[in-house]
Amino acid sequence: MWRFILFIIAVTILYYFLQFLMKSVPSLRKKAKRDNEPEELIQDPYCQTYIPKGSAVKKRIAGKDYYFCNAECLRKYLEKS
Ligand SMILES: [Zn+2]
Repeated sequence: MWRFILFIIAVTILYYFLQFLMKSVPSLRKKAKRDNEPEELIQDPYCQTYIPKGSAVKKRIAGKDYYFCNAECLRKYLEKS
């Protein structure tokens, strides 16, 4: 009897583990794809630093998109111009 109960528990754990794998696989694949693609670097117009576009602070000024390394640079850039 105990073996049967342990078997049921094992199957249940396996079932949830497989579900977890199914859920995590697409995100892993997505992440791997992102890692393989070199992220586009853009220049901060204020401090001239190059930053990955994905982590930059984006701001549309006069119909043109500007990317800043952080909000502080954006603020200073707006003050300057
Ligand atoms: Zn900056």
